[in-house]
Amino acid sequence: MALIVQKFGGTSVGNPDRIKNVARRVAKYRAKGDQVVVVVSAMSGVTDNLIKMAKEIMPIPNEREMDMLLATGEQTTIALTAIALHALDIPATSMTGAQAGIVTDDVHTKAKIKNISPKLVHEMLDAGNVVIVAGFQGQTIAGQITTLGRGGSDLTAIALAAALKADLCQIYTDVDGVYTADPRIVKTARHLPEISYDEMLELAGLGAKVMQSRSVEFAKKFGVVFEVRSSLNDNPGTIVKEETLSMEGVVIRGVSLDKNQAKVTLVAVPDQPGVAGHIFKAIADANINVDMIVQNISHKADKPSTDISFTVDKPELLKTQKVIEALKTKIGFSDVIADEKIGKLSIVGVGMRSHPGVAAKMFETLATEGVNIGMISTSEIKISVIIDLAKGEQAMCAVHEAFLGK
Ligand code: ASP
Ligand code: MG
Repeated sequence: MALIVQKFGGTSVGNPDRIKNVARRVAKYRAKGDQVVVVVSAMSGVTDNLIKMAKEIMPIPNEREMDMLLATGEQTTIALTAIALHALDIPATSMTGAQAGIVTDDVHTKAKIKNISPKLVHEMLDAGNVVIVAGFQGQTIAGQITTLGRGGSDLTAIALAAALKADLCQIYTDVDGVYTADPRIVKTARHLPEISYDEMLELAGLGAKVMQSRSVEFAKKFGVVFEVRSSLNDNPGTIVKEETLSMEGVVIRGVSLDKNQAKVTLVAVPDQPGVAGHIFKAIADANINVDMIVQNISHKADKPSTDISFTVDKPELLKTQKVIEALKTKIGFSDVIADEKIGKLSIVGVGMRSHPGVAAKMFETLATEGVNIGMISTSEIKISVIIDLAKGEQAMCAVHEAFLGK
């Protein structure tokens, strides 16, 4: 008898029919005698809609109340999924994150899991139930409801698989796994049978919205091998696991485009020691994640100043602007410019380590397309550029063709 964790994302549980579908799939595994733990997201669009309503009332709502609000999305789905299993005569019980023993820190809206004590999960499984756990949520030691950041149901699934020492972890979504690029945009994108944690991590972090990146980090840390596959068919998915030697033979595993970033530029910042520290400390204290940072060279020798640009997630732009405005008189920069019309285009592959000339080829391809590069950042296995959002998809197709076209 195997213990299986199956996670179903928002589109897989998007309406009652889809939820019945999920129940039928779960039933198939259970008929083989396996124990099944199901983790579900909110029905598609629900979380976005809850956020929208809160923001209609107040632009920056209290974060504890946002967690209270958003946790209801997943709570709806667990009960409906349990009911769908009951309709098939299968004993099933739903559980909130707290009931499943998921303990987090107290950073509301992006809490980190501290530990999991799945006592009740084990009890219910042993009593013959399918257990359905609400993704994306947990509880602090003090008993406050928290959420784990957007897309956090993936993390719930991976962390539960680790805590329960599951034999199999399947992440069901609306695509057949991971592709060399988003197949809705790049028609020649190809399916990948396997990918390393590090590549998946870069792709997830870079906005190929296959999975939340923290969940992949977690899987890497605890060695959880998992499969990403479609809930809409029985096609084989993509296995995500530790890097193997053969993976190095491929220069680029995939291309991604992140449309969820915004750029903030501080104009004429005094070029003195400590200024950048001051700015980014204030942003970090507000719990805002900064991704790329670019500082220009100083002009005017008498009163040296420089422009500093950085990117944040689009939903955090307002909060970031507020933090920055509060620093204006103290630091003495002249202006703040926000730009939401940017895209981050990235290429990823562990093979980059052993193949030279990858950056040059990417930049030349963009030049040929007439795409201007605003910012550049690189890591061992990734090159990212900030470009004009309007040219994002065109640039993505061209770069995919250059590296992965046949
Ligand atoms: N419902 C949450 C979100 O939309 C969590 C998830 O779907 O994984 O971000
Ligand atoms: Mg999701």
